[in-house]
Amino acid sequence: MEATTGCKVDRIIAEYGLFDADPQFDSLDDGLLARWRGNAGRTPQGYRPLTDWFNKRLLRTVYTEHGRETLSGRLEAAYETLQSDDPLDTAELIESLAVDGIDGEQLQSDFVSWGTMRTHLTECLDGEKEPQQSSGNWERESVDRARQIVHETVEEAVSSLTGKDVIADGTTAAIDVQIQLRCGSCPTQVPFGVAIERGYICATHGDGGGNRK
Ligand SMILES: [Zn+2]
Ligand SMILES: [Zn+2]
Repeated sequence: MEATTGCKVDRIIAEYGLFDADPQFDSLDDGLLARWRGNAGRTPQGYRPLTDWFNKRLLRTVYTEHGRETLSGRLEAAYETLQSDDPLDTAELIESLAVDGIDGEQLQSDFVSWGTMRTHLTECLDGEKEPQQSSGNWERESVDRARQIVHETVEEAVSSLTGKDVIADGTTAAIDVQIQLRCGSCPTQVPFGVAIERGYICATHGDGGGNRK
């Protein structure tokens, strides 16, 4: 595939010479696609965690180049600080980075947003995650979207807790988010998708024949 000078992600990869630390991937783009789709035995990741992963990869590369300590806890903390909107929070860190010859403000402006990451994956790399639900029904799609957001939020929290050594093996955790519907009259519960498919939640208390609207 020929490298096109596309979006900001492409520019940052080229400018900083970013590559994937995992040797099974020939390029950072290969690694991004695999993490996004969940190929190569990985849990599929959403745009937000991928964006953080990418930005931290950038931060780590710059740290390494300037001989600055990259222990994951410190890197995580620095990343969070640089993301802060309050200049007072970041001032101290930027000063400390400058001592090592790192331009913290430049880094801040080189971090990519999740919207840019989405564009990069879907347009620059022409990626497709999964075939879209052909039903095209918005109810199912909006619940899927909500589930994805919960998934990403939990993933971010687990990743942060892993960085803080609260959870030892968080990096390999699989997160399962299920929306369950429960019968109003008994403990029967089914996944949202199953209820749609079979047309009721509870065989006993569901309104079998009559179409209540
Ligand atoms: Zn791109
Ligand atoms: Zn029931």
